[in-house]
Amino acid sequence: MNNLEQFKEAAPAYVPGLVVLFDLADTKRRNCHLGHNVVDKDIDEFDRLIQSSVGASGLAKRVRGASWLAMYRLESLQSINELLGSFHRKQEMNVGWRSTGERNGATKVTEKIVPATIIRATRCLYSAVITPKSLNGLIDKLFEECYGFSPDMPIELGNVVNVERNFWSCVTSYPPETPFCPFCQRSDFEWEDGDASVYSGSGTCKNCSAYVDIKGVEL
Ligand SMILES: [Zn+2]
Repeated sequence: MNNLEQFKEAAPAYVPGLVVLFDLADTKRRNCHLGHNVVDKDIDEFDRLIQSSVGASGLAKRVRGASWLAMYRLESLQSINELLGSFHRKQEMNVGWRSTGERNGATKVTEKIVPATIIRATRCLYSAVITPKSLNGLIDKLFEECYGFSPDMPIELGNVVNVERNFWSCVTSYPPETPFCPFCQRSDFEWEDGDASVYSGSGTCKNCSAYVDIKGVEL
């Protein structure tokens, strides 16, 4: 039985209560900038915090990569807010890109780096559950609706339609310029390679034929 099935089996004993979905926000981007080890530690830390937050009267299980389901007592919004607050972190960094070009044996490098804040935060969506029968449907709905909105605040499932899906980013700013060729300043490439990072790619400049390699920079 996986963790989600275990949760669904155990949860009815905590009804009436609040069923709550927590999702560490924008973890892909945190992975790109800070690496897997940092995100793994975030997950371990959130797991400890949520277990102590639900306490003996509740239930919490990590059900997906960076998502947890929990059952709280109906009057627990304060505890949920405290959990979100205790996990929230801000980290000052410089982020941007470095573009290295080679053309006719010459190498040229351009960098654009700006100060930014990387935020660690959690999206939270919840619903009251009055009868055990409604629980599974509510869990499905929580998963469907938990995207795009700002973290750090519990949103009631019935209100999520009124919430702006701003596709919140954990990085507050990036350089305004998209990466360009250091020789001719154009951004039109024949890409050969790249991964899922925020800035990553190598290929040939379509304008001046330089071979250009672009990498993300975090300082
Ligand atoms: Zn060029």
